[in-house]
Amino acid sequence: MHSVLLIEDNPGDERLIREMIGEDPHAPFTLHCADRLAKGLEHLSGGETALVILDLALPDSAGLDTFAKVYAHSPAVPIIVLTGNDDDSLALSAVKGGAQDYLVKSRLDRELLLRSMHYSIERKRYQVQLERQANYDALTGLPNRNLLHDRLRQAVHSQRNPRNIAVVFMDLDHFKFVNDSLGHSVGDRLLKAMGERLRSVLREGDTVGRVGGDEFVLILNDQSNEEVIFRAMQRISAKVAEPLSIDGKELYVTASAGISLYPQDGRDVETLLKNADVAMYRAKEHGRSNFQFYTSEMNERVNDRLALEHALRRALERQEFTLHYQQKVDLRSGGIIGAEALVRWLHPEWGLVRPARFIPIAEETGLIVRLGEWVIHQACRQTRSWLQAGLEPGVVSVNLSARQFRAEGLVRAVSRILQETGLDPASLEMELTESMVMHNVETAIATLQGLKSLGVALSVDDFGTGYSSLSYLKDLPIDVLKIDRSFVRDIGTGSEAEDGILAAAIISLGHALHLKVIAEGVETDAQVHFLKRHGCDQVQGFLYGEPVPAEQFGELLGRARRKGKRA
Ligand code: C2E
Ligand code: MG
Ligand code: MG
Repeated sequence: MHSVLLIEDNPGDERLIREMIGEDPHAPFTLHCADRLAKGLEHLSGGETALVILDLALPDSAGLDTFAKVYAHSPAVPIIVLTGNDDDSLALSAVKGGAQDYLVKSRLDRELLLRSMHYSIERKRYQVQLERQANYDALTGLPNRNLLHDRLRQAVHSQRNPRNIAVVFMDLDHFKFVNDSLGHSVGDRLLKAMGERLRSVLREGDTVGRVGGDEFVLILNDQSNEEVIFRAMQRISAKVAEPLSIDGKELYVTASAGISLYPQDGRDVETLLKNADVAMYRAKEHGRSNFQFYTSEMNERVNDRLALEHALRRALERQEFTLHYQQKVDLRSGGIIGAEALVRWLHPEWGLVRPARFIPIAEETGLIVRLGEWVIHQACRQTRSWLQAGLEPGVVSVNLSARQFRAEGLVRAVSRILQETGLDPASLEMELTESMVMHNVETAIATLQGLKSLGVALSVDDFGTGYSSLSYLKDLPIDVLKIDRSFVRDIGTGSEAEDGILAAAIISLGHALHLKVIAEGVETDAQVHFLKRHGCDQVQGFLYGEPVPAEQFGELLGRARRKGKRA
């Protein structure tokens, strides 16, 4: 039974067609009628329609436009166009534009109509099949070279929002060997499985096609920056490299891939594909099982990044991390009342790597959780040993990262570390940022309370740069606000009116909430003077001392003690 949609506003014509189709009890058609184009399109969206009979002159649409709208809505559904007496040329244009047939209302009879309906359905079915064969790869069902070119052309020419596109040319390594030694049927299944994998790992709107024996091309849209591309490639490589089981045999398949980027590596389809191909050959030369970008700068940056990630994974075992301590000073007495522990990575070849460079990568890879625990442990052990040596390090703070803060078991870990090192919890402080707390307030408060209940102090780092909800801030179990460097930098530079007003406002806010306020990044006497005048409690910055290794900080504490004894 074929479901036929008649879009016709004239009740007389509708009745006529209904009778012609209905007369024959063997006619394999059911009819649905719509008297407006809009209603017709709505019915088409249901997806059951096998054929549309379309009057071009409707109350809400007229002429060729009517046809164009239906065709655009459902390009796979055959359409027969109905016209009045003198519209032969119009009807012919519709047929040229993709309609299967046209019928003139005044010359309509039953036999003619039914023949046209059968013919249109069959012809369209055949066309669709041809189109499939022309556009899709029979083995994997993926788009073939043809369609892939079309898609890429569309992506490149979508002028409305010019986007960054990555074109990936991928070739399986040693496929010929698999095919020859295990047989073609295994080879075919391998290709199918790879096609599936690649499709599953892509985002909606991206395309993967098979363009040759063991060659695939991927079109990745909206690759806003390097980081996104890099991660997509890592995801794809990992998926490809998963072991594959065919006929009870485990196959380990790798691929070599080349990447070109639109617009910088080519502005048209041919150039982009050619350059991705060139890059793929370079990947083969590099010993296969890797990906290469077309431009060397991209490769260098990606390689740097990969090397960094690789080295970072080993840095903990190799004990390449160390902590530096920066003093915190009481503004009234001028004495050291604590320190901030700041992690340093001393790589045997690269030397000192800044936290700004590796903390984000540690976050992404999840390494931050173990690294963060190491930092807390090390800071506690060091503080305890200073205390045992009779020194007064005050309260030592460590920084928490977002992922570490959210990770299961943080409170338990801190509690265990305190026990293991025997440090009085009152000597430990944790620094977190506004966004970490405000992101998911309920769970954050639970974690904060857990930490508080251990007896640890809490401080909000970089305060003023994130988004704090003041009503929440009031209820958080925190002890200290740390004014961000940028507001301290403003002091003594801007116009008289704006000079440091934000730093002053944060001090007032903090005190109103009964919190201690510390300013970070203090570099000049003018800043100290201003902060004193506004009642800031503590300061930290290069003016007092840069972050230094533990040994040096111990000496600093020793001198402070001797000075204290003399006074
Ligand atoms: P932060 O927590 O805001 O740390 C203060 C940063 O300011 C430190 O940079 C410090 O060296 C620098 N600094 C101190 N005094 C001055 C000054 O007077 N002027 C200027 N311009 N800068 C000053 P560092 O050590 O490079 O750390 C950068 C960031 O890396 C830290 O910002 C913190 O967010 C993160 N970080 C450091 N250590 C750790 C850690 O163990 N765990 C986590 N999760 N993050 C850490
Ligand atoms: Mg900090
Ligand atoms: Mg800070």
